[in-house]
Amino acid sequence: MLKAYKYRLYPTKEQKEFFEKQFNACRFIYNWGLQTKIFCYEKTRQSLSHYELELKMVHELKHEHLWLKEVMSIPLIRTLINLDIAYDNFFRELKKDPHFSGFPRFKSKKNARQSFQFHQGYTVDFDAGYLKLPKIGNVECRYHRTFGGTPKTITISRNAGKYFVSITVHDGLETPAKQPYDADSTIGIDVGLTHFATLSNGEKIDNPKHLLKNIERVKVLNRRLSRKKKGSNNRKKAVQQLARLHEKIANQRRDFLHKVSHRLISENQAVAIEDLNIRDMQQNHHLAQAISDVSWFEFGKQLEYKAEWNGKTVLRIDKFEPSSKTCSNCGYKKENMPLSVREWSCPECGTVHDRDLNAALNIKNMALCTAAQVG
Ligand SMILES: [Zn+2]
Repeated sequence: MLKAYKYRLYPTKEQKEFFEKQFNACRFIYNWGLQTKIFCYEKTRQSLSHYELELKMVHELKHEHLWLKEVMSIPLIRTLINLDIAYDNFFRELKKDPHFSGFPRFKSKKNARQSFQFHQGYTVDFDAGYLKLPKIGNVECRYHRTFGGTPKTITISRNAGKYFVSITVHDGLETPAKQPYDADSTIGIDVGLTHFATLSNGEKIDNPKHLLKNIERVKVLNRRLSRKKKGSNNRKKAVQQLARLHEKIANQRRDFLHKVSHRLISENQAVAIEDLNIRDMQQNHHLAQAISDVSWFEFGKQLEYKAEWNGKTVLRIDKFEPSSKTCSNCGYKKENMPLSVREWSCPECGTVHDRDLNAALNIKNMALCTAAQVG
């Protein structure tokens, strides 16, 4: 089974410069690859694979741009593979939903997070506290925990001025067999804005208060930033402050999601959720909503891999299923259901529904029903 371990890196000034060069090169190759793919498709209606791009890169690009020879090559190839994956994901989503808008985007130097990936030629030294990288040498690394097994892909990233390495490790263990589940051991989960999640057993899980407080604080800092003069030192300070706060929010969010997903997977044999994709996320500029979207997406991924580690099952229903509009008691479907309606009674059977609990029950029932048809 694959597991990921993330550690903070403390590169020297020279090492930072090398990292920056590598980030730039990978971003350059990604954007070049994307541009080339689009151009080729428009001209020939054929899609270029990453092998073809790699050949082009080696034969054409490296002669034109000599600086590309100064960085590691494997991350550049890895970048093209990742571009391929992003491309394939887009077309797979598009097949499911013709309005899907998540076409791979060009990467900007201004993005707070920059990264590159590779999979060989590095050494993890827990005792000395170093990560040895090709062309760079020993980078100081704070290993707050060790791991056993075979390290695979590593990702070096910079976020808000800090450097990290994330190592994917194969622990040598087989994935456990799936345990059987039934209606009693399956829980339906409805994610929402008023509560982080409502469970089909009636439990409501709130967003952590400190997280909400920090989201409010971002708004304050944003307003303050907008009043600072461009290019001034005060503005730089405000930008840094904001970046640190965003990082703090991301950490709090991740901790919270790990706790919830861990608990739900331990307590149940199967969890049922709506298929959330990243489509709506990219159209949202409202901060609290945007953070919720990222959280739900990440939450689904965490449930997925934790289920796999523990022999549990994640059941998904199509996000277009009318889970909030259907009566979970008798199956009656309401025409429409504005978001403001938190409670309603079914005209057919008279059951009074809490909107979110009803949705969670439907997600559970629909998912079990689909699984029974497939199985
Ligand atoms: Zn009803």
